[in-house]
Amino acid sequence: MGRVGLALVLAVAALWLPPGAAALDLDVREVAPGTWALIGRTEDLSPANGGNIANAGFIATPEGVVVIDTSASKTLGEAWRAAIEARTRAPIVRVFNTHLHPDHILGNQAFPAATLATLPATRQSMREVGEAFNDNLYRMVGEAMKGTHVVVPQAAAQAELLELGGHRIRILAMQGHSAADLVVFDETTGVLFTGDLVFWQRAPTTPHADLARWRESLEALSALPFKQLVPGHGPVLTDRRGIDMTRRWIDWLEATFIEAAGAGLDMSELLAAPLPAEWAALPLAGSEYRRSVAHLYPAIERRVLSSPTGP
Ligand SMILES: [Zn+2]
Repeated sequence: MGRVGLALVLAVAALWLPPGAAALDLDVREVAPGTWALIGRTEDLSPANGGNIANAGFIATPEGVVVIDTSASKTLGEAWRAAIEARTRAPIVRVFNTHLHPDHILGNQAFPAATLATLPATRQSMREVGEAFNDNLYRMVGEAMKGTHVVVPQAAAQAELLELGGHRIRILAMQGHSAADLVVFDETTGVLFTGDLVFWQRAPTTPHADLARWRESLEALSALPFKQLVPGHGPVLTDRRGIDMTRRWIDWLEATFIEAAGAGLDMSELLAAPLPAEWAALPLAGSEYRRSVAHLYPAIERRVLSSPTGP
């Protein structure tokens, strides 16, 4: 076959790929010996990325593998598990869900049910809203979600020290991005998996945020002696820039909303406000700002209006 013929066949084959298949080319990187991160795209959910927008990770020890998050669909979960099993022969012994959001947990189906664990409040909220999230992802991602349903972990995780295969793996129970944010810190390698308490090079999301608690968690994360930080979204860091950026974002959101409430702005006026220069180039800043107006402004407005001296 000539070059032109081959190119034509490849082009036609590309057209036949199922929707979202391109997203299965997972970006999996070794961040420490035996420790890997899946880096999702810093994009919004779409049919083109198949929902592959969140990070995940695993720690392979001789006694077993600890997995952190499962990505956003049955198909992505299967690809993630295959990527893990291509890199270690040790059995998967624990799969933690960092929090309830669907882009991190809808791959649970691809993992043995008995290995799944998350914090009690996350199990509860997954039971309550999991299928609604699943429906929402179908709406945004489409066909690539086919066959996906919510699997709520049977096991309740807790703050503890897991000693496994020569690793001291600290499980931390925090909150603020959601009602329960599980953090994994491998003290042996210095790799910290923060879940969505930290975003980097992508605007943070706030649908279940408690900003005061989120700040406390960011303080606690800052104090950990990590060498590598795998955020919930965005590239791996060796420093605190992701923690600091997330903190600046939530501080800015809150200050903006308090000021707007004091000035008597309504939601539509706030939605129309331009982003300050600091955030103009941050991926998804505009859309996450507008979502955050809907998530956070009503409560802040009530708080400001009910207090004669301000919040
Ligand atoms: Zn999240």
